[in-house]
Amino acid sequence: MSSRPSLDSFRRIVVKVGSSLLVDHAGGTLKRDWLEALADDLAGLHAAGKDVLVVSSGSIALGRTVLKLPKGALRLEDSQAAAAVGQIALARTWSEVLGARGMTAGQILVTLNDTEERRRYLNARETIGRLLDMRAVPVINENDTVATTEIRYGDNDRLAARVATMASADLLILLSDIDGLYTAPPHEDPSATLIPVVARIGAEIEAMAGGAASELSRGGMRTKIEAGKIATSGGTHMVIGDGRIAHPVRRIAAGAPCTWFLTPSNPVTARKKWIAGSLEPRGAVHIDAGAARALSSGASLLPAGVTRVEGVFARGDCVLIRDFRGAEIGRGLIAYDALEAAQLVGRNSREIEAVLGVPGRAEMIHRDDMALGQE
Ligand code: GLU
Repeated sequence: MSSRPSLDSFRRIVVKVGSSLLVDHAGGTLKRDWLEALADDLAGLHAAGKDVLVVSSGSIALGRTVLKLPKGALRLEDSQAAAAVGQIALARTWSEVLGARGMTAGQILVTLNDTEERRRYLNARETIGRLLDMRAVPVINENDTVATTEIRYGDNDRLAARVATMASADLLILLSDIDGLYTAPPHEDPSATLIPVVARIGAEIEAMAGGAASELSRGGMRTKIEAGKIATSGGTHMVIGDGRIAHPVRRIAAGAPCTWFLTPSNPVTARKKWIAGSLEPRGAVHIDAGAARALSSGASLLPAGVTRVEGVFARGDCVLIRDFRGAEIGRGLIAYDALEAAQLVGRNSREIEAVLGVPGRAEMIHRDDMALGQE
């Protein structure tokens, strides 16, 4: 596919909003009218039955105004303090503008560990999934008040791409202060032209990115290309579009200039490939014939069908799934630590709370977290 897709064809969409769009550069306050117009666009997607997630920057830019911090680069402690102050205002505003259009906002603050470490990844993914099941709109930012230099993304472009693949979104829209990727930085080279569709991010695309970033936002085109790599390898299409205008999402839908980064895959296939091919298995679960049949017809693995577990693994780790002969039939991310899983062997899901003393997931390995041999 090398033509531009239609927004109608996507069912789960992450919209990333940068600080420089949301926060007025001179006054350091929120651009409320612009945000209201964007919220109208999001309400349109939501009413069309799509799942909508927002990744919103702006906490540091807002907080620094309130705290009267000087212009220019901030020390880490100051940006953390600014984020603490600004995030409250940011979340309240999102809750108000989405609420006014009948949508419920749920705030999620994540750190690098939440998306990179498997146990926490599974937790964040499940919370996002639950919010979306209930038709709420997750509003996500990096937890800048606790993230230190070593453990932070620092830019919401890559964070948004991770969130999009984590949530199995099929589209990520990066709203930016430029309408897409140009063959060269347009402020330096007047002959630069916009690239409408990128079918694959290769060296020549990376070379076009340059390194520019503005004072308010951390990401330049470079982090957007990085985001594109994360998104497209996770089966998520990405589009960079102009956010400076009113109703930016509606405009992209109507054909405004922008750059599409296409993926040959989809989130479900990409995730299964990742589980099947990229993770080191930490153990195995042996299952009975009935469970093997249920799995091949698309069911999750319940504790009742497990006959034995092997290895030292933690919740979220990859384990092999073996049939009663010991043959590997697939792999999956297990919902329980090895000790808990051993206690649950053969048990009915209703007994989980009695066995562990705390409520737990009904599935030992959820269908979405599993790749079977034939897939
Ligand atoms: N997480 C930062 C904030 O909310 C912004 C990072 C970025 O600009 O990409 O202020």
